[in-house]
Amino acid sequence: MTGVTGARTAGSSPGGRRSGGAAEGGSIGRGVEAAASAGGGRATGGGPQDGGSGSRAARASSGSAAGGRAEAANAAGGRAEDANAAGGRAEDARAAGGRAEDARAAGHAEGAIAASPPARQSVPATLAGVPAPELDRHRAAVAALRQAYQELPAGEPVRLAKPTSNLFRFRDASPALHGLDVSAFDHVLHVDPVTQTAVVGGMTTYEHLADATLRYGLMPLVVPQLKTITLGGAVTGLGIESTSLRNGLPHESVIEMEILTGDGRVVTAAPEGEHARLFRGFPNSYGTLGYALSLTIELEPVKPYVHLRHRPFGSLDDCMSAVGQIAADRAIDGVPVDFIDGIAFGPDELYLTLGTFSTVAPWLSDYTRQQIYYRSVQRYREDFLTVRDYLWRWDTDWFWCSRPFGVQNPAIRRLWPRRYRRSDIYRRLVAFDRRHGLTSQMNKSRQVSPREDVIQDVEIPVEKGAGFLDFFFREVRMRPVWLCPLRLRCGASWPLYPLEPGHVYVNFGFWGTVPLKPGQPDGYHNRLIEDEVSALGGRKGLYSTAYYTEDEFWRQYNGQEYRALKRAYDPGARLLGLYDKCVRGR
Ligand SMILES: Cc1cc2nc3c(=O)[nH]c(=O)nc-3n(C[C@H](O)[C@H](O)[C@H](O)COP(=O)(O)OP(=O)(O)OC[C@H]3O[C@@H](n4cnc5c(N)ncnc54)[C@H](O)[C@@H]3O)c2cc1C
Repeated sequence: MTGVTGARTAGSSPGGRRSGGAAEGGSIGRGVEAAASAGGGRATGGGPQDGGSGSRAARASSGSAAGGRAEAANAAGGRAEDANAAGGRAEDARAAGGRAEDARAAGHAEGAIAASPPARQSVPATLAGVPAPELDRHRAAVAALRQAYQELPAGEPVRLAKPTSNLFRFRDASPALHGLDVSAFDHVLHVDPVTQTAVVGGMTTYEHLADATLRYGLMPLVVPQLKTITLGGAVTGLGIESTSLRNGLPHESVIEMEILTGDGRVVTAAPEGEHARLFRGFPNSYGTLGYALSLTIELEPVKPYVHLRHRPFGSLDDCMSAVGQIAADRAIDGVPVDFIDGIAFGPDELYLTLGTFSTVAPWLSDYTRQQIYYRSVQRYREDFLTVRDYLWRWDTDWFWCSRPFGVQNPAIRRLWPRRYRRSDIYRRLVAFDRRHGLTSQMNKSRQVSPREDVIQDVEIPVEKGAGFLDFFFREVRMRPVWLCPLRLRCGASWPLYPLEPGHVYVNFGFWGTVPLKPGQPDGYHNRLIEDEVSALGGRKGLYSTAYYTEDEFWRQYNGQEYRALKRAYDPGARLLGLYDKCVRGR
């Protein structure tokens, strides 16, 4: 592969500072081998994490069956007694001669993921498998919500009343918008390990969803990085994560959805049948056609740990061609790539993080404590996390956006309670600041030049990715940028967010502010980005601000199909329109 720089020697992996770790980090096998031979596989010396992780590391690779199993169960988010079912054992590494690839094979041979059935069975019918009392409660909640919706004053817009949001359009808390209480739809109704599916309330956060499925050694096919993103929000608002090159986008693993439509019906939308058009048009409709009350989704088996390899690149082109190569091979150096994302710190410093499920871990890092995940990407060449810690690796520091709160300063970090190092806490602080205009007033009184929020995710065809980053670093000058490759899983495009099936795209995420020069209006940089994305054949997500004219917007997001769906499912326009919501910020 072009451009994949070899492992660095100095400071190249956490192993350099933890006995038993890999010195160079270049190969998955070496780390495990070293760990296996050092004191019976025991990782000593704590490593770069604080005390807690050192002891966890020791437990993970101690070779003690009990310790290893308990850790595996924890890793899979399950209970100790689920250990055999949920995960593999640390001894597998040594049994396999210390080579990770073999260890994975050994894990399979011994049925390490015993809770994960070999193959999915039939696709369930609506709410199938949900236990009777739960089903009764759910049906009663649906009836009550329908009634509440009907009773809302006609002709006035509606919104979801829910405790969390990950939108970055801060509208006024307008009294004219009526909140619909959807708290009855915030939990998992059923996980079926046989069909590898789950029936989930539409407002369930991924944190709760992942905990419920990991107990069975399963996870959703795509788990967005922020704990309070909900399943309904990610399906209607397009989530993405590091499995998206393999598994596409969250809505592509939905089997069916129960939707309260704008005209007050409750319908079941599936890929086939009467409401198939609504099913396909729901992604990127942002709650303007209806609200998903329950969703049946596919799950996939996990292993207890994720082995991460951070590959550095010195140029944009090299990094993008490596993405293309990995997309073609679905592997690197013969090791399957289960997860891939990355960071561009600048045009000549980029990293791809390649993750592979593993039944063994010679050490475990923990970035919910003093260490910060995104910095580890620059510092180390390889790392190990439990699958749960991997899923939430970005949440603790909201990618890198916790910095303005001081949380990345070691002294403040120590004082900031660990349970409050979460993306939803930071977002609440930002929302409070915006509502009360605190920062902008302070900046005005200090005569600081105005800044523009540039908080966006865009999808660009991989072959244009280097061009986009070049433009971005030149014109917007914000860094770092998150990279996440994706490829649609289904053979057909999704009408309101058209991407080409089979084509590889890279999602670029950037979240911060940039100074405005005299004469540049607010939105100047966002406008530049929108134009560049369109010119490169890309697409921009709509969770944040947008500046498109109405014509441009409907060209980008298939106005014709949207209008047809709106006529069919919300003819009275009880719900806001997509342009009003996403561009006019209503
Ligand atoms: C800084 C930042 C980084 C982000 N990074 C990522 C990322 O890396 N990966 C990723 O996947 N996403 C990311 N997002 C975007 C996020 O996934 C979307 O904003 C998503 O829509 C949020 O879902 P939520 O559940 O928090 O919904 P909310 O924020 O509450 O609502 C989002 C929209 O969806 C509608 N909605 C919510 N629930 C439902 C439902 N059940 N049925 C119908 N409509 C509904 C709401 O009406 C609203 O219009 C990021 C957002 C921010 C601000």
